[in-house]
Amino acid sequence: MTQRSESPVFSRSMGDCLFCKIIDKKIPAKVVHEDDQVIAFRDINPQAPTHVLVVPKRHVATLNDVTAADHAMVGHMVTTAAAVARSEGHAEAGWRAVWNVNAAAGQTVFHIHLHVLGGRALGWPPG
Ligand code: AMP
Ligand code: ZN
Repeated sequence: MTQRSESPVFSRSMGDCLFCKIIDKKIPAKVVHEDDQVIAFRDINPQAPTHVLVVPKRHVATLNDVTAADHAMVGHMVTTAAAVARSEGHAEAGWRAVWNVNAAAGQTVFHIHLHVLGGRALGWPPG
């Protein structure tokens, strides 16, 4: 294992992390997609008719911690988000991908996740 993957920010699983517990099936979730790299499940407090979180299986705390070594993982998150939006029927009408980073943006779970929101008109600028 490399030094990078042993650091707390990048470790494979964090014992006190909510999304690591969902990945490890210690907490239930309404999973809509899962593969070797990501899991996608419905947000427990949906902000739109479709509100799905696309979460990498490797623990990374915030988008600030992503590096060039994560391009494949992040790319897979983005294509998974688009596939979820399409399967939920929002590809043509429109949908939104949101990445909250740290306190000012309202990040509450410090394991990166891409929000997929669709099924209603979404205002701009966001709140
Ligand atoms: P953020 O504010 O960007 O960190 O987003 C965290 C999201 O996780 C929020 O939209 C929460 O509603 C959602 N969330 C928190 N706990 C759970 C859970 N147990 N299952 C599904 N979604 C959750
Ligand atoms: Zn985690």
